[in-house]
Amino acid sequence: MDIQNIQDNTNSNSPLGARGHQNSKTAFKQACEVIPGGVNSPVRAFKSVGGQPVLIKKASGSRITDIDDNEYIDFIGSWGPMILGHAYPPIVEAIQQAAVLGTSYGAPTLLETEMAELIVSMMPSVEMVRMVNSGTEATMSAIRLARGVTGRSKILKFAGCYHGHGDSFLIKAGSGALTLGLPDSPGVTESTARDTLTANYNDLESVEKLFAQYANEIAAVIVEPVAANMGVVLPKNGFLEGLRKLTEDNGALLIFDEVITGFRLAPGGAQEYFGVMPDITTMGKIIGGGLPVGAYGGKKEIMLQLAPAGPIYQAGTLSGNPLAMAAGIVMLKTLKENSDIYSKLARHAEMLENGLKEGLDKAGIKGVVNRVGSLLTLFFTENDSVESFEDVMTSDKDRYAKFFRLSLEAGIYMAPSQFEAVFISNAHTDEDILATIAAAQEAMKQL
Ligand SMILES: *Cc1c(COP(=O)(O)O)cnc(C)c1O
Repeated sequence: MDIQNIQDNTNSNSPLGARGHQNSKTAFKQACEVIPGGVNSPVRAFKSVGGQPVLIKKASGSRITDIDDNEYIDFIGSWGPMILGHAYPPIVEAIQQAAVLGTSYGAPTLLETEMAELIVSMMPSVEMVRMVNSGTEATMSAIRLARGVTGRSKILKFAGCYHGHGDSFLIKAGSGALTLGLPDSPGVTESTARDTLTANYNDLESVEKLFAQYANEIAAVIVEPVAANMGVVLPKNGFLEGLRKLTEDNGALLIFDEVITGFRLAPGGAQEYFGVMPDITTMGKIIGGGLPVGAYGGKKEIMLQLAPAGPIYQAGTLSGNPLAMAAGIVMLKTLKENSDIYSKLARHAEMLENGLKEGLDKAGIKGVVNRVGSLLTLFFTENDSVESFEDVMTSDKDRYAKFFRLSLEAGIYMAPSQFEAVFISNAHTDEDILATIAAAQEAMKQL
């Protein structure tokens, strides 16, 4: 990196997001020479909203700072993990203390049992848990487990839901795949694609039809209990209960992908929030306190099928890593012991929801804000509600792109895609939310 080209703006006094992006432009160009598309995960590129991404150099609490020293109020929160805000001091301290004791042993530790006990105590349906290193690993392992336990091959997922980048899931996938128009990725073989069936979110009939067509072939239904990777789409009343019944009636397992909802909607995730219990739960994001962690868990008789207790193989050199466990334990303990955090998160999310709706009214623009707890999405659509993938696809992406760019220039860092969520953290203050509403309403006037 040619440091000569990176200017130091540290001592400039201009307000939030007003210092230009020259350093980011230079640095992104250099990144593109050696990293495909300049990023290590596609949604970080600003492809669908135009322009180039800003490169980040640090973050603290609700604020994130780019390499031009623009400061932003951050609503991405690393795509969910930073529910306590950035560089939360007790987590930083736990990582520092763990690091001096060695960063990896490849042997069991006390921290792993403590972490597993915490997860089991929080997630109502989880009796045993296996740690992995990402949400993708958790979902890939969960479907292998489901296939191994049932002796069946097919997986049923929902259009617009995202379960990481495993081959089986890149069929009508959400998140970056949807944003970039690549829901069905090249490189996934036909035989893999054949084993993935796709139904419509919030449409039980579409699930029933597939169970009728593929009787005794479906190992599991995997679902985001709140869809949050096509923008936020809430489950209709009875949808999750219906999936529970249909899977039971047909001898298939129900997998809740709680990589986003876990520890965010409630200490016990969506299963606690909605009172519906899956057979297997996949977790990630928040669970690592910002370090790369995933996990999957469920009933004992299912989890005991995993090697070395049982025959279904799954492993990981760095799984249960001591730094990640140390960070995750502080994260989960804090959430478990301070459940008032959830009402504060919801209050701030509701403030923002109302502010965005008011902004739409004032600007005379149609739109829908979907929200549950601290997750929300503003859809620029003419529809009166957004309850399905089809509804989501009516959104005006160009309008979102403009809204995104105007917000960024005003120092508000939202997802660079119409199909993602706004993540509220415990570090957001009333002032942060009010400043965001003011900036968003101003941006809407210019759309
Ligand atoms: C982010 C996400 C994943 C993938 O997790 P990674 O850690 O990015 O591999 C899986 N499922 C859901 C619901 C997610 O939001």
